[in-house]
Amino acid sequence: MSNFSLAGKVAIVTGGSRGIGRSIALGFAEAGADVVIASRTAADVERTVDEVKGRGQRALGVPIDISRSADISALVSATLETFGRIDVLVNNAGISPVFSRALKLSEDDWNRILAVNLTGAFLACQAVGRVMTEQRAGKIINIASIGATSGLPRFTAYCAAKGGLLQVTRVLAQEWAEYNVQVNAIAPGYVETDMTSGLQDNPRLLDEIIFRTPMRRLGKPDEFVGAALLLASESSSYITGHILYVDGGWSAA
Ligand code: NAP
Repeated sequence: MSNFSLAGKVAIVTGGSRGIGRSIALGFAEAGADVVIASRTAADVERTVDEVKGRGQRALGVPIDISRSADISALVSATLETFGRIDVLVNNAGISPVFSRALKLSEDDWNRILAVNLTGAFLACQAVGRVMTEQRAGKIINIASIGATSGLPRFTAYCAAKGGLLQVTRVLAQEWAEYNVQVNAIAPGYVETDMTSGLQDNPRLLDEIIFRTPMRRLGKPDEFVGAALLLASESSSYITGHILYVDGGWSAA
């Protein structure tokens, strides 16, 4: 099991304060990593920082908006100042604020979704990738979606962003292979988090999704820890450019 250990490693989890990111951050702490939590709401960030510390690891909270490049630079600087290295980046911060047919999607909403889910994630890869290629080691995990490869009606911008993030993953995996930096993606199906609270409150929509999911239920945030640990640890030393679906079988259909 030592291949799954993160002892001595430093991991940044964007959007690590809630939902899937929080579960991954706490799972990494239990595997021995020191963890940096980076999301917008300072109080949520601090709460998860305390939970990481409660697991015996060091933690740093950096309130950032991933759609601002200056915030990403500040995140990398603060992490290096505190811990001196970055071994793992989980690009998990994401939004899905609209459920709207393409003809009604506003340009502002399109831009906002792309700015967080694609541009922000890429700029974080780039800023952290500079550190990792220099240190000749690193693991990047981009949290995509089943919408990266399936067209989900009413999620045009979200699917475009996640599909783009998948392609970023594949390109960076090749460009940074020679530096021993592995870049992979996890594609969640529908998961019980704040992001899906609207659909969880809509019985008709929820039934449709459950019917379409072979395992006949939504995922839970803790069910992402195993996949993330695989892709963050030495266990994945020969895996790069891969998309790992954690979706209750959705993508098999
Ligand atoms: P969530 O519960 O809504 O949590 C989102 C996290 O991202 C929070 O920590 C949030 O904190 C942070 N965040 C949002 N906008 C940000 C920004 N501009 N800058 C920095 N941090 C930001 O969402 P989740 O369901 O756990 O989703 C996590 C990831 O999985 C996302 O990339 C999402 O697209 C993906 N995903 C989720 C599902 C699902 O069904 N839940 C399905 C497929 C893919 P603040 O709001 O305080 O910033």
